[in-house]
Amino acid sequence: MPFDADTPDAPIFDPVAFRLTDKQARLTALARQIGQEKFAPRADQWDRDAVFPMQNYKDMHTAGLLGVCVPEANGGHGADYMTYMMTAAEIGRYCGATALTWNMHVCSCLWTGALADDLEMTDDQRASHERRRAIHYARIIDDGAIYAQPFSEGGAAAAGFQPFGTTATRVDGGWLINGKKIFASLAGSADYYGVLCTEKKENLSRADTMYMAVPADAEGVTVMGDWDPLGMRGTVSRNLLFENVFVPDDAALMPTGVYFQAASKWPHMFMTLTPTYMGIAQAAYDFTVKYLRGEVPGTPPVKRRMYPTKQHAVADMRIMLEQTKALWFQVISEARANPTKEQVLRAYAAQYTVMENANELSQLAIRTCGGQSMLKSLPLERLYRDSRCGSLMLPWTAELCVDRLGREALYEKGESDD
Ligand SMILES: Cc1cc2nc3c(=O)[nH]c(=O)nc-3n(C[C@H](O)[C@H](O)[C@H](O)COP(=O)(O)OP(=O)(O)OC[C@H]3O[C@@H](n4cnc5c(N)ncnc54)[C@H](O)[C@@H]3O)c2cc1C
Repeated sequence: MPFDADTPDAPIFDPVAFRLTDKQARLTALARQIGQEKFAPRADQWDRDAVFPMQNYKDMHTAGLLGVCVPEANGGHGADYMTYMMTAAEIGRYCGATALTWNMHVCSCLWTGALADDLEMTDDQRASHERRRAIHYARIIDDGAIYAQPFSEGGAAAAGFQPFGTTATRVDGGWLINGKKIFASLAGSADYYGVLCTEKKENLSRADTMYMAVPADAEGVTVMGDWDPLGMRGTVSRNLLFENVFVPDDAALMPTGVYFQAASKWPHMFMTLTPTYMGIAQAAYDFTVKYLRGEVPGTPPVKRRMYPTKQHAVADMRIMLEQTKALWFQVISEARANPTKEQVLRAYAAQYTVMENANELSQLAIRTCGGQSMLKSLPLERLYRDSRCGSLMLPWTAELCVDRLGREALYEKGESDD
């Protein structure tokens, strides 16, 4: 839908009602404006051709959004977790593939920045981490470098049950990376792959997980496989092969073991895939209201709002949207290191709710608006396809959230029935 400067969209989270900080209000407004004005009209093209939204990334670099979570001292906006989450939801409203891939990029800054500051390191580790992350941030701020985040391998590692099979072997002055990643969003478009791998020792251990910035043009890096999926087509999540890829010591985005610490102590880190889908949920609702009022640009001005069944459906959608937003807002506001058990259970519930409700709202939107609303010339059928992908994202798939929620609600740590 074209941007109409006279009718900018209302915020997903009203700054006054939700008591946003000035920075939160400013960054969410920036994301909303760039999303409505530039990303919404282009979203169809990335989806149709399954092409990475490079033009959007150029615009985000110009707007300073590539460095949203780079600390202010390093030239970024210094957004914390909650600020990033709300900003990303505004992008997700207009282009799911841009928001989802932006998440992979931003995690390279959030994990090495605000999250790492909460974790334990020796003084030496802290000093080398400071120096290395400054190199990494400068590439993003100065050169507009884009980072991907390949961790999935097709087995239990991305679910958090096994060490990554991709390995880093110590050699003079650096590391040799070997392995295969699947579903690497931004494959072929990122400048660096932020690879999760395991330090190669006699026995691989999750405690030895490493997080390495591998240049996309390094010798031994190959992008493989086709990409013709149901939804999130602009993410171009193809496979990556790493064959004896040499990276220097400074490629380490975190000291060895710190990623494992983050995964245990900062579990909300895995929720950064949700804002994209929070935005899609809002977009499905917004479209429905506009369509039933006969106000969607490019469609005949036919009003359908007078039918009671449609009013009931909109009421149901609004209730589901408000429930989803309220739970998600609460959970992102309590994300921190060492959360309580209650906070973690609530986080699983929120992840499940956003991922499933985004799809439920999209399908309700199509049913309520009717046949002409699902034409490819309108965004609704894309929202429907994109929204189905949220529940599949490891390590907190909808199924794994249910598994964890049930087990952890019934068993305290270390308890068994034997
Ligand atoms: C659009 C899109 C973009 C993506 N982008 C990225 C990306 O940038 N980087 C990235 O790393 N990944 C990405 N992914 C991958 C995603 O996070 C998952 O890893 C992927 O969808 C898993 O596919 P699978 O068929 O291997 O899943 P599954 O087979 O469901 O899961 C893989 C393994 O996890 C374990 N597992 C799954 N469910 C359970 C369960 N209930 N109980 C116990 N074990 C279980 C099993 O060992 C299983 O073999 C993306 C996915 C999509 C759809």
